[in-house]
Amino acid sequence: MNEQVPRISDIQLPSSVSTLYIDGSFLPPSSHPVSSMAYAWTALDPDGFILESHYNNISSIFPSALRSEIFALLHGLDSLPRNSKITVATDCAQLLSLWSLYVDAPFIPKLLKEPNHFLWSFIRAIKSLKNLDVTLLKVPAHADDPLNNHVDALAKAAHTDSHLSSRPSLKLLAPCILHFNSLPVDMNIRKFIRDIFDAKSLLTLAILLRFHSSSSTSDIDWACTKFCLNNNKQFVSHRNGCSEFCGFRMKLLLDMLLTLTTLQRRKSHLYNPSWLCPQCNSSPETLDHLWTCPYILLEFSPLNTFKILLSALRTNCLDKFISTSSLSPLPDSFVADFTTLDCWDCDPPSFSCLRLARGLIPISLTEFLGNYFSPFTIWSIFDTPLHDFHFDLYVQIWLCCSIFFHHWESAQGITKKMKSSAFRPSSILCPSSNIPLDSSTPSLATVSLDSWVSWVSSYIIRGGSWISHLDFWRRLTVQPLLRISFW
Ligand SMILES: [Zn+2]
Repeated sequence: MNEQVPRISDIQLPSSVSTLYIDGSFLPPSSHPVSSMAYAWTALDPDGFILESHYNNISSIFPSALRSEIFALLHGLDSLPRNSKITVATDCAQLLSLWSLYVDAPFIPKLLKEPNHFLWSFIRAIKSLKNLDVTLLKVPAHADDPLNNHVDALAKAAHTDSHLSSRPSLKLLAPCILHFNSLPVDMNIRKFIRDIFDAKSLLTLAILLRFHSSSSTSDIDWACTKFCLNNNKQFVSHRNGCSEFCGFRMKLLLDMLLTLTTLQRRKSHLYNPSWLCPQCNSSPETLDHLWTCPYILLEFSPLNTFKILLSALRTNCLDKFISTSSLSPLPDSFVADFTTLDCWDCDPPSFSCLRLARGLIPISLTEFLGNYFSPFTIWSIFDTPLHDFHFDLYVQIWLCCSIFFHHWESAQGITKKMKSSAFRPSSILCPSSNIPLDSSTPSLATVSLDSWVSWVSSYIIRGGSWISHLDFWRRLTVQPLLRISFW
């Protein structure tokens, strides 16, 4: 029986080898144009003489520090002769715990959920087919072990060594390998697919024509918008009677709240298209008008309430940003600059202010904050105040308006029965009034197959969050009623 093991190493160490020092090195994109992974190992005989050292770069696939460490182990083991008894010294504690979980144990399906599971499967196969007796040994980090320092320096040198010719090809040994565009998907497959569908749904949302009617969507920070919409646990939870509020928030975003204008569009036989806002009787009751209606009755004034709530949102966010540690020191002008961003301009409300009210985060806001904070910090800070702001809009404006609206409907003789009736008199034949098709028809933009392939490939090669690779959509042209081509 002489099973052939596909090899990634073209080195064959002598049988006298007894110890391997291994190390990986990872340069994240911030210190480099793109992230870079490298590895090194040094082989010793029982007397402590160095038999051979080796270092190289690794092709970038889901780059991480851990992947470079695992690769060092894989390449070292692959260079050993059969039946070796070897001690592998590493300063990476995580490598030891993953080894005992996934290699030094019977196969468990959980391995397939692990990032780098192909590398681990390969290591399992090499160990078994070569009948290796491997013991991993933890070298204390910063203990000034000269051999550990040696491999550490070698791995670091690999990043800049221009003499390195070809990278080891990764002909992986695993029963089933999912490839995308010839790149192995060495991560949790379920998460990979979920990320793609998340990206697709966000893109589908972003290109709905309802967001394009009056201005470009490139002034909306979709990543932040999506985060704030999805992340809040309170929002996701449908318990404690908050499903109504969940629905409100989604309809607010999509401009699907049952304002009079929406009802006039949907049931023009009941709601005369010429009717104006029941409260002020001065403008059509659109979504934006909910917050800008000048009507004042006793304590209730939508516009004043809106101004107070928006100001509270601004203060809440500002307080949080000031008390959060920033990437670079905040200038003295930070508070003034933040406060004068036009999304806070509510007298009268600016366009970006009205968008913010819907939960569409203006890019001018996140770009300004991006000078001082990471995207994730910005998103996390907005999440809860925005949720609370929407809850206050819901309770203090929308519910109040709804009660008023209910009484007004009764006064117009519009009953519940009439509203629930599916029968629509001749109005069916009326052209859906004068509402342009695009305001009600969700449409998809064309995203070429190439764009998807380059996005997914970039996600695999550069790693990190999928959302950071979606920059291509800024160049999208929206064409109604065409489908997204999706791999
Ligand atoms: Zn009004």
